[in-house]
Amino acid sequence: MTSAPLYSLAGKRVWVAGHRGMVGAALVRRLASENCEVLTVSRAEVDLLRQDAVESWVKANKPQAVFVAAATVGGILANDTRPAHFIYENLALETNIIEAARQAQVEKLIFLGSSCIYPRLAPQPMPEDALLTGPLEPTNQWYAIAKIAGIMMCRAYRRQYGCDYISAMPTNLYGPGDNFDLQSSHVIPALMAKAHAAKRDGTEIPVWGSGSPRREFLYVEDLADAVVFLMKHYSDEEHVNVGVGSDVTIREVAELIARAVGVESRLRFDATKPDGMPRKLLDSAKLLAMGWRPGTALDVGLRQTYEWFLRHRAAA
Ligand code: GDP
Repeated sequence: MTSAPLYSLAGKRVWVAGHRGMVGAALVRRLASENCEVLTVSRAEVDLLRQDAVESWVKANKPQAVFVAAATVGGILANDTRPAHFIYENLALETNIIEAARQAQVEKLIFLGSSCIYPRLAPQPMPEDALLTGPLEPTNQWYAIAKIAGIMMCRAYRRQYGCDYISAMPTNLYGPGDNFDLQSSHVIPALMAKAHAAKRDGTEIPVWGSGSPRREFLYVEDLADAVVFLMKHYSDEEHVNVGVGSDVTIREVAELIARAVGVESRLRFDATKPDGMPRKLLDSAKLLAMGWRPGTALDVGLRQTYEWFLRHRAAA
């Protein structure tokens, strides 16, 4: 049973920070049915890494609600090779946005993190209170530290200023608008682009690592729905996990991707590439208990993502 909303978006000015990204774009699509005014701003107009620019824009445009979907993101290789880039940009943009929101008396803000904030050896599935109970996965610790800081900022702003700022922690995401560049992408778009090439060229599909790590995958349209749900129904310090409740091995997802692409190629595992976290399954019981459910099965989401890729591959 879903409880009555605590916060209404109807008639509000709502800023989606990071609207060009996969998550931000999905939020803009989802908010179209919320009867609110969606505000966005281009990078050319406001560089989110510059505090003055963010503060003046927020002051002038007076959003009442903010979705912090802006982030510098990337897959295992990008995180591991550009640590300074990941920690600096994420810390800067989240502190700029959250502090600007406080100054402009934004009524409600939701900060989005990621499941990589949890310790490498956290109990699986990972409950919210596993945060800060052990060492992080080394390949993405820089990004994780920045995201943990964002959660802690929302908590601190609640305590000291009484701001209604909350955080959601999505599991691994995929879907329309994803980054398909092989050097910086996450596993699903990378394997989709590789399976597409294998279909065209009749070659094998190279898969990084052993194929045995397990990952949980959430379709980005479902994430946007969950985030809007939390904005309306949740108001507390603790962040909320957003996942589907089950995971698959990298081998299994590679096979599902090959099926979605329609290719029979063999998978070739490359042990010189890192596996990263052995498993990363969120415990999403808290969100499920509030009455939210994901709507898209993995095979369906993969087919829809491949259709998007075919339509947009020049840009992707
Ligand atoms: P992670 O969830 O932070 O580890 O990020 P990724 O989505 O980049 O990687 C998830 C898992 O998929 C890791 O074990 C990777 O080694 C594996 N993987 C297999 N093939 C690929 C690939 O082509 N690209 C990426 N990024 N990961 C791959």
